[in-house]
Amino acid sequence: MFQKVHIRLASLCAGITIFILLVMSCGYLYISERGLRSSSFVSFQNDMNTLISNLEQQTIITHEWLTRIEDNGKYLINVIDNGVPFLYNERNTPEQKQLFEVAWEFYENTFEIQSTLSAFDTWHMEYLFSSTGGHRNDYYACVITSERSNGTFQVIILCSMKPLLTQIRTQRLLFLGLDLLAFTALALFSWYFTRQILRPLEENQRQQNQFIASASHELRTPLAVILSCASASMRASKEDQVHFLESIKSEGLRMSRLIDDMLLLTKADNYRWMIRKESAELDTLLLDTFEAFEPIAAERSIRLSIELPEDAVPSVSCDPERIRQVLSILVHNALSYTPEGGCVRLSLICDGKNTKLSVADNGIGIPDEEKKKIFERFYRADQSRSEKGHFGLGLCIAAEIIHAHHGRILVSDTPGGGSTFTVVL
Ligand code: ADP
Repeated sequence: MFQKVHIRLASLCAGITIFILLVMSCGYLYISERGLRSSSFVSFQNDMNTLISNLEQQTIITHEWLTRIEDNGKYLINVIDNGVPFLYNERNTPEQKQLFEVAWEFYENTFEIQSTLSAFDTWHMEYLFSSTGGHRNDYYACVITSERSNGTFQVIILCSMKPLLTQIRTQRLLFLGLDLLAFTALALFSWYFTRQILRPLEENQRQQNQFIASASHELRTPLAVILSCASASMRASKEDQVHFLESIKSEGLRMSRLIDDMLLLTKADNYRWMIRKESAELDTLLLDTFEAFEPIAAERSIRLSIELPEDAVPSVSCDPERIRQVLSILVHNALSYTPEGGCVRLSLICDGKNTKLSVADNGIGIPDEEKKKIFERFYRADQSRSEKGHFGLGLCIAAEIIHAHHGRILVSDTPGGGSTFTVVL
């Protein structure tokens, strides 16, 4: 499912960013090309204006002057003196001659020709036209008509737009290349970016699935016992029925505890967990826990001891009920994972800034590679070692409570063997 969402999200993200980039590039290209075209035409007009003022000063039009004006083939020139083509025109190739015919035709068909020019008047017109025939090329053209004492003198000057069009084409190709690079980068970035966004969701989904699977697994065992006890009690004698009912009750209580634990964790996940902070004395909380577990420790032949600071302990702002719950989890675990004859020590240390509560045992200990995992939901270091009432949720609940208090819960090895859990508030 996440794979599909990832592909869709990445495509959407890449599609939108690529579309925006494409619109921006096209807009920029359009403006830039318009600028190039108009500046190129303005430059042609300026050249023509210089040429006309030069022409007006010439009394005789020489071949040298015309060759100079051609500017190494940049311009093509056709001169007509009193309706007679100049000999200079013979230098033009047949294609060029045809080109002049098209330019002239275009000029005559498009513009209204001034027929009443007075002597020494010069009239000119710059325009754009396309050649016909095999290779269609665009040209700037300028027709200059000058009235002289000896008649009408006309010059047609053509300038190919090829350099400009090549420049435009190069610019387009450059943009295309850059855009393709940017599109690839955007697509890769979108893929990576959406992956990063989805990763926590995916992890969350995975954890939820695991949570449901583990919860179902844990509930199935007591439920199976309840069902088999119920069917056995139907056939059993009155005395045996009492035994089966006791089993049903104890398994029911186990299920209820497990459901309570799961609800607690679900509330923590949804941030619906209320911590009711008040000023509390941690030494009193530790002492209460010690007293509550003393009989159980004695029953298991484990020495339970407590170590409190000699000086008065400053009160701490916390939820005393939740901290009591954490201490119960830690002490219950310590007693469960410490063999007969072992010892469990509860202690409280105040170092001015922090208050540390610790539960140290000399039991079976926790291997280093397990130390992080034991805070995961339903994690039990050794499944076969687990006894009834241990669902692998205790440390997870303890960690949630301590995090809600902005504290830390740490696990380390007890010198000489066993584990030490420390809560820093
Ligand atoms: P459980 O209810 O199974 O004890 P916890 O979340 O409290 O679940 O603990 C997770 C696992 O961490 C336990 O199954 C056990 O393997 C390990 N563990 C917890 N406390 C101790 C301890 N004091 N000594 C050794 N192992 C422990």
